[in-house]
Amino acid sequence: MLTLESISKHYEDQPLLDGVSFSVGLGETACLLGASGSGKSTLLRIVAGLELPESGRVLWDGADLASTPPHARDFGLVFQDYALFPHLTVFENVAFGLRMRNQPKDAIASRVTEVLEIVNLTGFASRRVTDLSGGEQQRVALARALAPRPRLLMFDEPLGALDRSLKEDLLHELRAILHRTKIPAIYVTHDQEEAFALADRILLLHEGKILRDGTPAEVWNDPQSAWAARFLGVGNVVEGKFKIQNSEFRIETAFGAFKTRCPHEHENGETVALLLRQADAGGTRVRARVEDVVFSRERFKVTLRGGLVVQLTSAPKVGEEIEVAFRAECLGHA
Ligand code: ADP
Ligand code: MG
Repeated sequence: MLTLESISKHYEDQPLLDGVSFSVGLGETACLLGASGSGKSTLLRIVAGLELPESGRVLWDGADLASTPPHARDFGLVFQDYALFPHLTVFENVAFGLRMRNQPKDAIASRVTEVLEIVNLTGFASRRVTDLSGGEQQRVALARALAPRPRLLMFDEPLGALDRSLKEDLLHELRAILHRTKIPAIYVTHDQEEAFALADRILLLHEGKILRDGTPAEVWNDPQSAWAARFLGVGNVVEGKFKIQNSEFRIETAFGAFKTRCPHEHENGETVALLLRQADAGGTRVRARVEDVVFSRERFKVTLRGGLVVQLTSAPKVGEEIEVAFRAECLGHA
């Protein structure tokens, strides 16, 4: 099991990582999700041993890795730019890590054949990597990382350069391969859809801290902060005024008043963030004018006056007034 204990790092007086802690267990795929510039790649480099943290520890099964150099950590890395050797064949690229470990020739050949089969590249061994498509090159990079049987795999936005349908196919395959091989993995991305398609666990990195650590369902059902709800695109995040009257709570917004409990204590009149999720039945009804309608995967993404966005199965007319029900959740301070 990999454990990060309170990792911190600054660049030029700016804190980048500020006490990051989490663990990744056997067979688990953890997606580290954060905006561009949030320190995801830096964190991976620290785990890989390519960069030193200012404080905190990286442990494997309880043992500190501080004095273990990168090549001795047995961690595999896959990057966005593949980082393949262009002058070598697929076979030689995949065999690279095995040769570095001085394995016998026939053991290398059988392991290369085995991992090429795992990544669906049987028959590609003698091809030049420069003749392959982007998706195929990324499979070679994955095969190369898998070949030495690493105890951890790390991916840094590996599908960033690929088009959408290829990305989806590779994500499903990758998920299956990781679960079949039971190799724990950290997958870094800024794309929440990608993270949700792959993760057993989501780690949300924001302002140097792991803001949320849970299964995709846990994080989606309870984002716990306005930033997380907005970043994940869970629903509409609006501001409102917290009001207490006769020991009843409500939050008054531009779209009406919503009854809800808040996880934190608030003063009467305090501004709070409210998550409005579209509700099928029940919920608080809101009437508003339709401002825009865009077709989006079997549904229509409808923007209402004031900026509320809902998904509807049939398209209303722009300018028409419609009624939609929302479930409200208080997210605390705005
Ligand atoms: P992410 O992978 O989430 O996009 P990075 O880990 O690449 O984020 O880096 C986050 C920020 O840290 C960068 O925008 C940069 O300002 C700073 N940074 C990263 N590496 C260095 C470095 N070697 N020297 C100075 N600043 C750095
Ligand atoms: Mg990065």
